[in-house]
Amino acid sequence: MGNFKPVRDSYLPYGRQWIDEEDIESVIRVLRGDYLTTGPYVSEFETAVANYVGAKYAVSFSNGTAALHGACFAAGIGDGDEVITTPMTFVASANCILYQRGKPVFADIDNKTYNIDPVEIERKITSRTKAIIPVDFTGQPVALDEIISIAKKHNLAVIEDAAHALGATYKGKRIGSISDMTMFSFHPVKHITTGEGGVITTNNKDYYEKLLQFRSHGITRDKIKLNDIEQGPWYYEMQFLGYNYRMTDIQASLGISQLKKIDKFVNFRKKYVSIYNEAFKDMDEIKIPYQNKEGSSSWHLYIIRLDLEKLKESRKEIFESLQKRNIGVNVHYIPVYFHPYYMKCGYQRGVCPNAEKLYEEIITLPLFPAMTEDDVNDVISAVNEVLIYNRK
Ligand SMILES: *Cc1c(COP(=O)(O)O)cnc(C)c1O
Repeated sequence: MGNFKPVRDSYLPYGRQWIDEEDIESVIRVLRGDYLTTGPYVSEFETAVANYVGAKYAVSFSNGTAALHGACFAAGIGDGDEVITTPMTFVASANCILYQRGKPVFADIDNKTYNIDPVEIERKITSRTKAIIPVDFTGQPVALDEIISIAKKHNLAVIEDAAHALGATYKGKRIGSISDMTMFSFHPVKHITTGEGGVITTNNKDYYEKLLQFRSHGITRDKIKLNDIEQGPWYYEMQFLGYNYRMTDIQASLGISQLKKIDKFVNFRKKYVSIYNEAFKDMDEIKIPYQNKEGSSSWHLYIIRLDLEKLKESRKEIFESLQKRNIGVNVHYIPVYFHPYYMKCGYQRGVCPNAEKLYEEIITLPLFPAMTEDDVNDVISAVNEVLIYNRK
């Protein structure tokens, strides 16, 4: 589009961390101490996460993807096992199935919530199905009651990808306390950060023990688990092929400090979302995010859906116009099976029409607690400008 002044001089990213002096001090304290990795802060962080979400156990990992890999291992996913997930997610939600030589099966999304549709899950179940990996897309909890009841009926594990949903609730319960296993990510754009990091929360002791062993090469020192108890105090056994997926004490200490601020972070997100909703609710050209009544989203992402029939320009042109105004818009996500690797594995376009159509029409606006109300208003001004220009 034609001439314009950028609404702001500096580039506003779609998401970023909020680190304060207390966070910095907590990292420095570890650097001066005895342990840099797998010391006291790792278990303290795990206990804090478990307590916050209301789960019995939490096992930390070097990143959220490694945590999902661990969950697939613990759920017993193996050669050729089918696992149902959504295409409207980051590739990690499906890649973790491939790591275990399982087969991702994509079920389409609900057109209102953009979350995986339980009816579509049930349609995709075969005798080879072992688990479901639903994603709380943008922070809005999936239909957990429906999904868990399908899982019970067919004897499947539910591994909830809650990378977007720390601090969200479903029917009054915190996300992280409900599914068989729940994954949270601590990447800098997520609700709290450890640089890289992730966790699985669970109420199941068997999963908990498998996860601990998996993230440390498959090694155990637990006397009850050893095959040979005669060896001596130095002795440990590697009993299955695990990985080095451990979180450091440096990360965990940052995580402990960040977790103290989770409610503040989520409240800022909610406040900015209500400002966006108010500003956009009467614009015919865009749809604001639908929220169902069962859950309370923790708002990782704010996504607008364009009604392209009512707009002069394409999504790409509108996206570029916002970028030119220094608004760091993004698109979440490219359907997983559109990626060349998945295409090479034989996946084809057309299997999830709702997700494919959504992908053509969405733009993610900046949303993070460290942005200011002025930043929020800059985004609104830019969207207004671009949409007014686009009116037919
Ligand atoms: C961020 C994210 C992950 C992976 O987390 P990492 O910590 O970056 O490995 C997985 N699933 C979803 C939906 C995510 O947004």
